Amino acid sequence: MHEPPIQQIVCCMGQPVTGNPSQFMMERAFAAAHLDWRYLTLEIAPENLGDAVRGMRAMGFRGGNFTLPHKVAVIEHLDRLSEAAELMGAVNCVSIEEGTLIGENTDGKGFVESLRQITDPAGKRVALFGAGGAARAIAVELALAGTESITVINRTRERGESLVALLKERIEIPSEFILWDSEIEIPADADVVINGTSIGLGDQQARLPIVADSFDPRQVVADVVFNPVQTRFLQEATERGCKTLDGLGMLVNQGVIGFRIWTGVEPDRAVMREAIEEFLEV
Ligand code: NDP
Repeated sequence: MHEPPIQQIVCCMGQPVTGNPSQFMMERAFAAAHLDWRYLTLEIAPENLGDAVRGMRAMGFRGGNFTLPHKVAVIEHLDRLSEAAELMGAVNCVSIEEGTLIGENTDGKGFVESLRQITDPAGKRVALFGAGGAARAIAVELALAGTESITVINRTRERGESLVALLKERIEIPSEFILWDSEIEIPADADVVINGTSIGLGDQQARLPIVADSFDPRQVVADVVFNPVQTRFLQEATERGCKTLDGLGMLVNQGVIGFRIWTGVEPDRAVMREAIEEFLEV
């Protein structure tokens, strides 16, 4: 007898999540893979997070994404963490395997997968603007992928120094901190330059306080911001002959990795990218 497909549920827990691009992308990917799965977006208040996570297990969910403000707070409710999630101290993707809740962080992995389409991070010198959640995830994954060094440039000293300490002490990779308190030049020896800040989010005119003429055409330049897709940072790098990587690639790839973790199936990346572009109307 033909077995009907089993419906499974994954979810996204975070702040108000109406109009969530990940939901749009995931549901398209499930359909393309002929999986009768659902991706729910659930707004959970911080004080209810523990109950919500226990509810996922009770209701037989396969896993979920966790966005702000839950990426750190969710950890105490999980059974196990991946190496990268443990190093970063943040989780954005949970899978439930035979009742065990496993935390992973797919943001940095998504970035590295994107970067590999242009260049192998191994042996590269990286200049990273920002030291928040996205920058931290990227720095840890780049370090685990064998980059030669990472220079962290951040407005707030404490956050920047804390990331550098993590890279040096836990992953033993050469790293230095530069305080970003005025317009600065991009480190001339960097092979890969990344905007890991939120500057540019929702504002195509917003510019990083950097000397645009200090981009070198041999540099690969990437932005975490995906809306707008073509940020001013990327535009200025393109005008100076650099190869660029937009934030959509990272967003799609973290979705691809989550999909693989939950389903064990390789999703159609092109379908996912198309879905996001349709959602963002780009
Ligand atoms: P955080 O709030 O954790 O970090 C923000 C970072 O930006 C900090 O380093 C902060 O510096 C810096 N920053 C913000 N405004 C300024 C400014 N005016 N001048 C200098 N530095 C500034 O945010 P996240 O790391 O979670 O997110 C950052 C961006 O990454 C967002 O735009 C988000 O949408 C994007 N993102 C993209 C993903 C993708 O898949 N493409 C995945 C995850 C995030 P300071 O420490 O001094 O405050």
